[in-house]
Amino acid sequence: MIKLNLAAGLLALMAAAPTLAQTAPSPTAAPGLALVRPTMETEPVDHEGDAADDPAIWVHPSDPAKSAIIATDKKGGMLVYDLSGKRLQYLPDGRMNNVDLRGGFKLGGRRVTLVAASDRTRKAIALYTIDPETRQLTSVADGVQATGLSDPYGLCMYRDRKGGTFVFVSDPQGLVRQWKLTATPAGKVRAQAVRDLRFDTQTEGCVADDATGALYVAEEDVALWKLGADAKTGAARKAIARVADNPALKDDLEGVGLYAQPGGKGYLVVSSQGNNSYAVFRREGDNAYVGSFGVAANDQAGIDGISGTDGLDVSSASLGAGLESGAFVAQDDDNAAPPGRQNFKLVPWSAIAAKLKL
Ligand code: CA
Ligand code: CA
Ligand code: CA
Ligand code: CA
Ligand code: CA
Repeated sequence: MIKLNLAAGLLALMAAAPTLAQTAPSPTAAPGLALVRPTMETEPVDHEGDAADDPAIWVHPSDPAKSAIIATDKKGGMLVYDLSGKRLQYLPDGRMNNVDLRGGFKLGGRRVTLVAASDRTRKAIALYTIDPETRQLTSVADGVQATGLSDPYGLCMYRDRKGGTFVFVSDPQGLVRQWKLTATPAGKVRAQAVRDLRFDTQTEGCVADDATGALYVAEEDVALWKLGADAKTGAARKAIARVADNPALKDDLEGVGLYAQPGGKGYLVVSSQGNNSYAVFRREGDNAYVGSFGVAANDQAGIDGISGTDGLDVSSASLGAGLESGAFVAQDDDNAAPPGRQNFKLVPWSAIAAKLKL
């Protein structure tokens, strides 16, 4: 009987284990870390475990409050959320890992916003447009845009000063491949490879600065790198910050976002996943390290803090009332309150700027 009870107890514990893990408190932030609080969280993604991955903030062309968060469920597809966190669309198009977007792309006689995602199911680049009226994504890929990569993983986009639109996709072996996107006469979009860049180890998070032509790539265990986003600039790169040198950074370095301000000023934000914080660097000059922040629970709003972030995005554009200086949006590894599947959380940029005296 005792043995039977023990076995039953063990079974009960095993059954309860996922719940216990989900309700465990988020890892505590380092002492002295500047803390801000989220004011919004999205509805959870549909898949269990590590599923939410990367957001991209889309700014509505005429009504900032109708801006949206386009995001990936890396176990199933693409998501669109409004600024209250309500899900507007789910497209079960495959294991989409990272997502980014760029406006101003000429397609079928109109200027559209192109949304690109790294599709691990088809080893391809998924391509969409977003309709400002419906805020729905529609695929515009001219068939499967194969990457030739073993596993398309990190992704970011770049629009050069001549209006050319590009996509960078990384694989887990340190390769970063660049494509140029072109419109077909039928109003679809095709990707043409233009350059390969090689890092020593896995990269994922990346962001391009369209105004300066800089590309920033996070080599997860090693450093945040800066190189030229234009294919003709070659492979020369410089470490902005190394995990080994900056005690505020703890690998993996994950999502990277650019907060662009007029006059070439602004900030880079990098997920320091290993210590549940975000490192901020100057956009200009030698990208000096400014400071780090963490995101603690907003108990009044019933929103838990953010830990273990994979993807993030920041925008300096107004997203409406309360978000006039833009926002920071990040994936939360542990959606602890109330316990649920993973989601994305938003912090007004004004709160980050006040804490770090930006
Ligand atoms: Ca993760
Ligand atoms: Ca992104
Ligand atoms: Ca990663
Ligand atoms: Ca959390
Ligand atoms: Ca929550």
